Amino acid sequence: MPFKTPIYKPSLSNNELNYVIDCVKSSWISSKGNYINRFEKMVGEYIKAKYCTSTSNGTTALHLALLALGIGENDEVITTNFTYVASTNAILMVKAKPVFCDINLEDLNINTDLIEEKISKKTKAILVTNVYGFLCDFEKIKTISKKYNLFIIEDGAESFGAVYKNRKSGTLGDISTFSFFGNKTITTGEGGMVICKNKKHFELIKKLKNQGNSNIKTYYHDIMGYNYRMTNIQAAIGCAQMEALESILKKKSDIYNYYKDNLEKEIQFLTELNNTIPSYWMTPIVFKSIMIKRRVENALNLNGVETRPFFTPIDLLPFYEEDKIKSAKNIYKRGLLLPSFPDLKKTELEKICEIINNNR
Ligand SMILES: *Cc1c(COP(=O)(O)O)cnc(C)c1O
Repeated sequence: MPFKTPIYKPSLSNNELNYVIDCVKSSWISSKGNYINRFEKMVGEYIKAKYCTSTSNGTTALHLALLALGIGENDEVITTNFTYVASTNAILMVKAKPVFCDINLEDLNINTDLIEEKISKKTKAILVTNVYGFLCDFEKIKTISKKYNLFIIEDGAESFGAVYKNRKSGTLGDISTFSFFGNKTITTGEGGMVICKNKKHFELIKKLKNQGNSNIKTYYHDIMGYNYRMTNIQAAIGCAQMEALESILKKKSDIYNYYKDNLEKEIQFLTELNNTIPSYWMTPIVFKSIMIKRRVENALNLNGVETRPFFTPIDLLPFYEEDKIKSAKNIYKRGLLLPSFPDLKKTELEKICEIINNNR
């Protein structure tokens, strides 16, 4: 049975329908058409990046990022075991080895003090997710990456709209990626984007996502590529979402702050780094014990409110080797994500807080 208050639903009441109708009427429904360039340009202008190219989803965006950096067999990529599985799978997709670094309990992001001890001769890159929209310590990551000559890959799937010292998420890695899945800050249904610092990487990614097509002659492919393109219909929805972006971000930060102001103090919220603004993609809270978390979760679900657990630490999944990384395992069973979609009503928020406070 669907929940009365879902964990997420996209806000699609702006120009989304008009633009989709335009695609159908004009017959530009595949991966050519004006909306694609327009969407890439809108995102590029917003995050202040020159080289943005759209993709079929956030997973293919990550795959392309690793391919473009030439990461493959016998290479190691430092990452964390607390992220969405697609992030780490991308490393396996290019046959490289993920090396897990522990996280901070305050923001669930990579613990930069522990990165250096994970570096070996095989290390090529550091792939970090801004978990639940909270930004990693990119200044420290940058210092380390410079010292050891490593690439930084920013998985910004959850941090669209977040700000790190006046720079937007999506510009914090050598290559950054976004996802525009239905529950992300802005959506194209399924969709993604790759953002590059370097023009060469950008050109290679455009070629890789388009079957390795050479620009020389038709049906001449000079490298093996993929079909990882976004469609014009997806981009049309994305353009309408970008028009509504400021309002979406504001509503989400208001929701987050409402929870923070109205939930009892012993419930832990994440802490953002100084001079950063999270995207407030989801509202993650942490309870003192697994028992309390289960009680609150049950009460919310019985009252028609959907919740989500935290990620299962990646190294506990059957196709990864378990590592001795502790922090994520200590916290994930005590964590809960709360409904945080832009159109969530004040009355629903009040009800959710009341249920949580009464059952803690
Ligand atoms: C959503 C997400 C992805 C994958 O995006 P898809 O568009 O679903 O392929 C990758 N990494 C993180 C951290 C995500 O949250």
